[in-house]
Amino acid sequence: ALPVVAIVGRPNVGKSALVNRILGRREAVVEDVPGVTRDRVSYPAEWAGTRFTLVDTGGWEPDAKGIDASVAAQAEVAIELCDVVMFVVDSRVGPTATDERVVQLLRRTKKPVFLIANKVDDAVQEPQAAQLWSLGLGEPRPVSALHGRGVADLLDDVMKAL
Ligand code: GDP
Ligand code: MG
Repeated sequence: ALPVVAIVGRPNVGKSALVNRILGRREAVVEDVPGVTRDRVSYPAEWAGTRFTLVDTGGWEPDAKGIDASVAAQAEVAIELCDVVMFVVDSRVGPTATDERVVQLLRRTKKPVFLIANKVDDAVQEPQAAQLWSLGLGEPRPVSALHGRGVADLLDDVMKAL
């Protein structure tokens, strides 16, 4: 079976935009309104000659337990089934309580975790990414899923971790 890379994170951080960037086409639904998306859960992907399965947890609908519990539950399943985790945070918002729920899960896993500071569209926004060192998940990787900034370097490193 192909290695699995899971993208976890709360709604509206840009998970689907990152899926599209990695796939090189608009397949995942990017939503301007946070919440429910119609995205698929997994996509066949390839980067630098390595094939893998990309799992986007955002495609699962929040259940009655509310958004925090739902995001955490989805992340838990994804962490379990994947080989490498890409945890996406909105660098313009900074870590929220929902993000913290996921961070608690990620601290427990022995699998490689990439902390992705998304929406760093230009160099001016880089300091906001550095604030995410406080999460205790290692080096925040500043990227712009929308414009592609930083994504190639990130993917190169993710492939090394597979
Ligand atoms: P998801 O809910 O985590 O899948 O987030 P989406 O991919 O649907 O994106 C949510 C919103 O953030 C949309 O309005 C996107 O256009 C926007 N967005 C995603 N990535 C970026 C980025 O790198 N920069 C900026 N400025 N906006 C982004
Ligand atoms: Mg989405």
